[in-house]
Amino acid sequence: MYRSGGGMLPPRSSRLPRTGVNLGAGDDGEGPGRTVATLPDVQVRDSLVREHVVVVGAGLAGGRSVEELRAQGHQGRITLVGAEAHLPYDRPPLSKAVLLGRLDDTALDIPFERLDVEVLTGVPATGLRPGTLQTEAGELPYDGLVLATGARARELPGARVLRTVDDALALRARLRPGARVVVVGAGWIGAEVATAAAAAGCATTVLEADAAPLAGALGEDVGALTVPWYAAAGVELHLHAQVEAVEPDRVVLADGRTLPADVVVVGIGARPDTDWLQGSGLALDGGVLVDEHLAASWPDVVAVGDCAAWWSLRFGVRLRVQHWDDALHGPVAAVATLLGRPAVHDPVPYFWSDQLGHLLQHAGHADGADAVVQRGVPGAADGWSTCYLRDGRLVAVLAVDRPRDLVQGRRRIAAADAADPARLADPAVPLRSA
Ligand code: FAD
Repeated sequence: MYRSGGGMLPPRSSRLPRTGVNLGAGDDGEGPGRTVATLPDVQVRDSLVREHVVVVGAGLAGGRSVEELRAQGHQGRITLVGAEAHLPYDRPPLSKAVLLGRLDDTALDIPFERLDVEVLTGVPATGLRPGTLQTEAGELPYDGLVLATGARARELPGARVLRTVDDALALRARLRPGARVVVVGAGWIGAEVATAAAAAGCATTVLEADAAPLAGALGEDVGALTVPWYAAAGVELHLHAQVEAVEPDRVVLADGRTLPADVVVVGIGARPDTDWLQGSGLALDGGVLVDEHLAASWPDVVAVGDCAAWWSLRFGVRLRVQHWDDALHGPVAAVATLLGRPAVHDPVPYFWSDQLGHLLQHAGHADGADAVVQRGVPGAADGWSTCYLRDGRLVAVLAVDRPRDLVQGRRRIAAADAADPARLADPAVPLRSA
């Protein structure tokens, strides 16, 4: 168990610095680099004074919440409770640079000592009553609570999952030249694992139950555009492949076929890590149910990141996006709300993936789109994009090797102004003016 801090902070100035970073392709189209974003100045003087805020879940959303609490002027005690043995770290590199052997440590740079935060690692929360968090190490009273327990990978008996840094390092050790690697699921994580396995010289096969990779996220037609990437990367792809069982040295398919395997990895999505809240009485619905301010059904409780199912004013639906960008920025509104200045969380969701030699970036929410416009030819050297429209307005964009489209498309989605499908379809017309 790591512990740090614990005392009270000296009084702070009531004027806060602007904070926050935004991950997304820059206007220069140079890919998912980090750029500083400006957030509105926040006044501390009207804030609700809380004695002890407990943050459960020491991932990106939990770590950022701790930073935001201090940045927004909370002067009372903060305790960060995490189930893993590690301090908060970044997950996106786990299926990319870490698996590829280019990075070992993805720890987040959060100065816990300076922020005067007590950090309890290796301590799972087990239950909740109003005002009290129950953990394996005992009860923790709170008068403000941030739920940030993220998600856990869906499992398949006999197969490995990739969610934690321990998972990634253990998997990497098995990716040896010639090893027979079977990846179950051609979704975001599955495609990234296959990329790393093929790069390591493994004989790599991907099994997908749907008719196309990424069909669940992008639809079959768009997902099908990624099929040629597998062969080009030396990966065998089997579609309509239903796994019956994973045995120690092979995978058995429902149609009776068997595939020899030294390593089997499953990437079939993640579910909110909220089982421990069942029976507490807190409202759950595909995650912790929160409103547009990230406020949960009990006073003094907010939820943020992968575990939160928040109400999107922009799209008029409840979203649980499971995106790094959301866990990064959500704490700004969650903490403001907890400190008595309810702020609206209503981003245009953003996600990226590096797979099979391509950069995929997705912004917005495509459900309910009534028109889909293809922009550029799949396979073109300068990439292609798919635009999703609803009532003549852009609601989502998928940019493949076209980071500029992502940046400009995301702004158009935020602006919700009318777009011209004919101009959208012309890759020579910048998305900003299409
Ligand atoms: P998490 O990162 O899941 O952290 C939650 C923490 O809470 C965990 O440490 C967990 O152990 C802990 N916890 C759970 N239950 C309890 C409990 N009962 N008590 C105490 N602690 C608990 N997103 C992108 O946008 N782009 C990408 O390319 C991308 N790649 C990814 C690759 C991988 C391999 C993975 C796993 C995720 C990827 N993501 C990506 C998603 C992104 O990492 C998540 O959206 C982000 O990590 C969510 O942060 P979080 O803090 O909400 O949850």
